[in-house]
Amino acid sequence: MAIVIIRQDDKIELWKKALLAQQPDLEVYSYLEEHPKERIKMALVWKHPEGALANYPNLKLIASSGAGVDFIFEDETAPKNLPITRVVDDMLAKDMSEHVLAVILSHLKNLDRYRVNQTKGIWKPIQYRRISDFTVGIMGLGALGRELASDLVKYDFKVQGWANSKKEIEGVKCFVGESGFQGFLETTQILVCLLPLTDATSGILNKNLFKQLPNGAFVINVARGGHLVDEDLLEMLNNGYLSGAGLDVYHQEPLPKEHPFWSHEKIQMTPHYASVSDTNSVVPQILENYDRLLNGSSLLNEVMMDKGY
Ligand code: NDP
Repeated sequence: MAIVIIRQDDKIELWKKALLAQQPDLEVYSYLEEHPKERIKMALVWKHPEGALANYPNLKLIASSGAGVDFIFEDETAPKNLPITRVVDDMLAKDMSEHVLAVILSHLKNLDRYRVNQTKGIWKPIQYRRISDFTVGIMGLGALGRELASDLVKYDFKVQGWANSKKEIEGVKCFVGESGFQGFLETTQILVCLLPLTDATSGILNKNLFKQLPNGAFVINVARGGHLVDEDLLEMLNNGYLSGAGLDVYHQEPLPKEHPFWSHEKIQMTPHYASVSDTNSVVPQILENYDRLLNGSSLLNEVMMDKGY
C-alpha cells in the first residue's frame, strides 16, 4: 500500500519529507520517479497533469492537498466514483483571513493609491475611511468564510454572509440561497468571494451581480478565477460604479502579461498566494485519512460529489 504525490510545482519533495517526518515507515512516491503503480491506494494531488490519475488500477482515494477540488472535477480522465477529500485547516483559514483584512485595509486607508503616488513623487492626502462605516459581505461561509467573518466582527466591521444553507455565526447576519441573494448584495459595500468553483458558481461575479451592490462597492476575489467575468469587472470599474477590486486568482495563472488587470489602477493584484497549505499543519489530517482508508473507516473532509465541493 502506498501514496503517490502528483503536482506540477516544485513542492513534491517538501510534501514527501513532511509525510515521512511524521510517519517514517510510510511508502510514498513522487509520480515522477519509478514506482509500483499497482501499490498506490491514495493520490495526494494539487493541479496534477491531466491523465496522471488514470494510471493507478488500485487507487481508492484522491486527496487534494489544498482546500479546493475544482481541478479534480475538471480532469475528465480522473477515475469516477472514488472519494475525494480536501484540506480543512485552521492555519489555512487564518492566513486567508489575514490576507483579506490586509486588502480591505489597504483600500479603506488608500495604501494602494499612495503607493502609486509615491512612484510619481506625488504628496497628496486622500480622505480615509473607517472600518465601522463598512459592511463586508462574504459569499461562502465554509471553513474559510466563517473564520474571516468572525475575525472581521472582532475588528468592528459590520459583517454578513451568504451560503447554500443556514448558518449561525455570532455577530454575522446570514443570508441563504437564491432567495437571500438580493438582500445580501444590496447592503454589501465590500464583497468577498470565498465560494468553491462549481457549475453553480462559475461566472457568478458578473455585471448583473455588481449592479446589485451599492454604488462604490469594492470586490475581492480570493476563491477562483472562474468565478469572475473579467470584462464585466473592467466595465464596472471603468464606468465608476465599483471603487476597486482585490484579486488573487485568475482564469489563467500566471496572468498573461497583456491582460488589462496588470495596469489597472483600481485593481490590487496578488499572485494566487492568499493562503497556501502549510505541510506541517496539514500532514496529520492526510495521514489520518490514509489510515482511515486502509481501515475502512469514514474519511475526514470528504467532498460532496453531487455538489462538487
Ligand atoms: P467550503 O467548502 O468549506 O465552503 C464553501 C461555502 O460556499 C459553503 O458555505 C457553501 O455553503 C457555500 N456555497 C457553495 N456553493 C454555493 C452556492 N451555489 N450558493 C451559495 N453558497 C454556496 O470551502 P472553503 O471555505 O474551505 O474554501 C472556499 C474556496 O476558497 C475553495 O474552494 C478555494 O477555491 C478557495 N481558496 C483559495 C485560496 C487562495 O489562496 N486564493 C486558498 C484556499 C482556498 P454551505 O455551507 O451551505 O454548503
